[in-house]
Amino acid sequence: MTEWFTETLHPWLAQRLRMDRVLYREKTEHQDLIIFENEKFGRVLTLDGVVQTTEGDEFVYHEMLTHVPLTAHGNAKRVLIIGGGDGGMAREVLKHPEVEHLTMVEIDRAVVDMSVEHLPSLSAGAFDDPRFDLVITDGAAYVAETGDRFDVIIVDSTDPIGPGEVLFTAEFYANCKRCLTEGGIVVTQNGVPALQGSEVTNSWNRLGKSFADVWFFVAPVPTYQGGFMAFGWATDDKAKRKTELSVLEERFAKADITTRYYTPAVHQGSFALPRFILDLLK
Ligand code: SAM
Repeated sequence: MTEWFTETLHPWLAQRLRMDRVLYREKTEHQDLIIFENEKFGRVLTLDGVVQTTEGDEFVYHEMLTHVPLTAHGNAKRVLIIGGGDGGMAREVLKHPEVEHLTMVEIDRAVVDMSVEHLPSLSAGAFDDPRFDLVITDGAAYVAETGDRFDVIIVDSTDPIGPGEVLFTAEFYANCKRCLTEGGIVVTQNGVPALQGSEVTNSWNRLGKSFADVWFFVAPVPTYQGGFMAFGWATDDKAKRKTELSVLEERFAKADITTRYYTPAVHQGSFALPRFILDLLK
């Protein structure tokens, strides 16, 4: 009998993905984790009933949340990922030759272990890179306590429900700022504005308490229903968001990274927000 995975993120809308083969289905210490195969999207990882990543479309999300801040920064030597257990973000960060050290703080070890076992194309060896360090703990507690400093912080979190909720608070953002070097950048997973508009408004206000320049950039990720996904952008260096296209092109060419979604022109265009998203910045 055909089995379907049904995601009901909203009371008025659900999406279904056919589960052609279930590879893993367990309650971890923190979340319900399922990994299954789907004919169109390949292997799919879900947590607490919500699609987190699929082999078929992860490149859009992971490339945009890494190459946009790292290329805009220009010399990010120390990078922090909060969440990121599937490894896709680590894989893209470590493609940058200027990155000397990457710390990933993930709350759920099972996501890391099961992703290595069942979704090896996501991390693609990144967890074995000598520049990589894994810390298993709550990301909010980590940024509140660590003495380490980072040039770029990438918040690759679940939605603001369950363990990910603390990663959307003003206090968390203030602690991220404390952990940044001068001119550092924080980027965040910020939901799909057409369906989760309040997430953009909340982050706009909460990031705005700590940073001089707060904005959003967008990209469509097919299995995150509702059109454009928004990524939060926060830094005290207002010039970084406006980095010239020729500078982005020069830096990205020098890094010699092959991508499927990101280009410097896409980077620049992704900060141009449609009116309905601008209207959420209030
Ligand atoms: N791309 C996905 C999306 O937008 O739906 C999210 C990716 S998934 C890698 C997010 C990760 O954040 C999960 O592995 C989850 O365990 C982790 N996570 C959730 N809450 C966390 C917290 N408080 N601290 C650290 N990691 C957390």
